[in-house]
Amino acid sequence: MSIISDSLKRIKPSPTIAVTQKARELRAAGKDVIGLGAGEPDFDTPNNIKNAAIKAIRGGDTKYTAVDGTPALKKAIIKKFRKENNLKYSSDEITVGTGGKQVLYNAFMATLNRGDEVIIPAPFWVSYPDMVLLAGGKPKIVKCNEADNFKLTPEKLRKAISKKTKWIILNSPSNPTGASYTKAEIKKLSRILIKRKKIQILSDDIYEHITYDKAKFFTIAQIPSLKNRTLTMNGVSKSYAMTGWRIGYAGGPKDIIKAIRKVQSQSTSNPSSISQAAAVEALNGTQKFISIRSKEFKKRRDFVVKSLNKIKGINCLTPNGAFYVFPSCKGLLNKKTKLKKDTDFVQKLLEKVNVAVVQGSAFGLEGYFRISYATSMKNLKKAMERIKSFCESLEY
Ligand code: PLP
Repeated sequence: MSIISDSLKRIKPSPTIAVTQKARELRAAGKDVIGLGAGEPDFDTPNNIKNAAIKAIRGGDTKYTAVDGTPALKKAIIKKFRKENNLKYSSDEITVGTGGKQVLYNAFMATLNRGDEVIIPAPFWVSYPDMVLLAGGKPKIVKCNEADNFKLTPEKLRKAISKKTKWIILNSPSNPTGASYTKAEIKKLSRILIKRKKIQILSDDIYEHITYDKAKFFTIAQIPSLKNRTLTMNGVSKSYAMTGWRIGYAGGPKDIIKAIRKVQSQSTSNPSSISQAAAVEALNGTQKFISIRSKEFKKRRDFVVKSLNKIKGINCLTPNGAFYVFPSCKGLLNKKTKLKKDTDFVQKLLEKVNVAVVQGSAFGLEGYFRISYATSMKNLKKAMERIKSFCESLEY
């Protein structure tokens, strides 16, 4: 009899973390590896936020807190939702977890029964399907087309819905494509969801503050008739360069929030008291950092997209959010290049020119790869040269 549980056997370790780890190992072995796999900003946490954490330590904020968030942090989150998203929540409609990841995990653990389906548009963030599987649910993957900017269309949504659909996940701007839904696109999807009253909506807004080209952020809970069925997840990891602090949150219906609290009370209790104090400052303090950082990301995006599109066999859309691009490498997958799949491309790229990226198939769409441009321009320049020389070295 295996010591490992059946539910754990259903899932795999995060492929993006695996790539980052592989790059780390190669670097430790003396290789000059450029890692374009990480899903975190390279910027440091702003000083006002760090200082708030130091003050919290000195002031004795070092004890257990309320399970799903301190009153001060909940207040800051309520204010954020009202000011930025025009969404009104009360304190018992807010939950705080150890990263957005834990909030999502808790939500699935708290709501899924065996066989319940969760619609996940692909390409997707790698953790969604595995979290659903771990909670006993069934991921219903809906492949989206490059021609639709990798976004879910109303037709595809309609087709994917069944009697067993419990949740649909929307992630805008998206990891891994950087694509974000317009208000009009969300409204079109809403028309279908308004009629299907048993479906809950999970909106993952973690990249809300990283948008370009005047893309206006809109979240589905802003559709009044859907707010009471939507869990709007967000966090400080990406917006404020705070991935290591582990604070994520959500606003949603009281019954789901209460159930999430129950799961958390029996697992991690509360998120770190120090990190919560830091998150209060992130949300209430100066927001200057966001626009300065977005300008820098935009420069990098423009450079990366332009460089990739100059390479024969690669085709890259220009996304208007997050810090990822999701180019196609289909033009390089053939008998002559001896590359069959995106995994071959990614592996050879790492072996031959020491550039670490993640294969599209890890995100549910074969024939692509994800580049995170959350690294210095210097690194990106070197990486683009290496990718170009690798692609040009292939036989046609
Ligand atoms: N959602 C998406 C789409 C992400 O890319 C990530 C992190 O990579 C998360 C949620 C979780 O972020 P965190 O747990 O750091 O708040």
